[in-house]
Amino acid sequence: AKKRGRNQYIMCTPSLRALLEENLRLTNYLYTALENDEFLLHYQPQVDIRSDKITGFEALLRWNHPELGFIPPGKFIPLAEQTALIRHIGIWVLKTACAQTKAWQDKGLPPVKIAVNLSLAQLENPNLVQQVSEVLTETQLDSSYLELEITENMAMKETDYVVNVLKDFKKLGITITIDDFGTDFSSLNFLKQLPIDKMKIAMPFVHGMLNNPTDEAIINMIIMLSQGLNLDLIAEGVETHEQLLFLAARDCHQVQGYYFFKPLPVLEAEKVLLEMKN
Ligand code: C2E
Ligand code: CA
Ligand code: CA
Repeated sequence: AKKRGRNQYIMCTPSLRALLEENLRLTNYLYTALENDEFLLHYQPQVDIRSDKITGFEALLRWNHPELGFIPPGKFIPLAEQTALIRHIGIWVLKTACAQTKAWQDKGLPPVKIAVNLSLAQLENPNLVQQVSEVLTETQLDSSYLELEITENMAMKETDYVVNVLKDFKKLGITITIDDFGTDFSSLNFLKQLPIDKMKIAMPFVHGMLNNPTDEAIINMIIMLSQGLNLDLIAEGVETHEQLLFLAARDCHQVQGYYFFKPLPVLEAEKVLLEMKN
């Protein structure tokens, strides 16, 4: 046990200690990961099942450490968020994703959108809109191809501030998507206030909808809600043909998931765009 203030002890079990030590080690490595060029993006296609065409990619961050190998984003992004690092990493992701999308367009490949995840720390950065606008100028990507994904709980925090940030993004011509829709469901009121364009149905509902009546009811509700609000809709985590049919029957035509594609390294993503062209 460690002493923590007067008469307060926290027990450090071996496994907790190991976890803390690992996180500390990873955080230290994170500080040099950017300059050492250890990050890369994978691109997961988003498919319109009516045309069987790719309409966009989601950029997903990967960290390839020289000794530890690939470290999953679920492990290192929370650590980056605890430090100021996520802001630098976030800008790197944005720049890389926009530059890549523009490069594909310049090669004559079919133009597609690029969806980039934002973290709360980025959204809270007062320079964010300025930075995003600079990235668009720098990379010369037309803003209509950029989509930013935020989660509900991010939207719920400091609503007035977030509303203004999102309005600024819309003025720039950027698409705003609520990611993992349905998971943090605290209030539907934010839908009235936030200028959003698109909802992404959270993966757990998609995985449960065929067997679990509650998940099915929630999916039905989300689809109706998106239609009533005239918002674009995409389902993520689609893995089976049955899931696809279920969504198609309910007029949800945009999907992302292993059924079609896993997140792809840049050259493979380029290949699927090339195949689409031919
Ligand atoms: P997310 O934004 O919800 O991304 C979707 C996750 O689901 C990705 O995991 C993707 O690989 C995975 N996925 C896609 N299709 C399927 C499927 O059919 N089945 C299953 N089981 N999984 C599927 P990934 O790449 O490990 O990313 C995890 C999370 O890390 C992301 O969840 C996102 O919250 C965060 N993340 C990733 N890249 C970034 C980034 O550049 N910035 C920020 N702030 N967060 C990121
Ligand atoms: Ca996402
Ligand atoms: Ca998601």
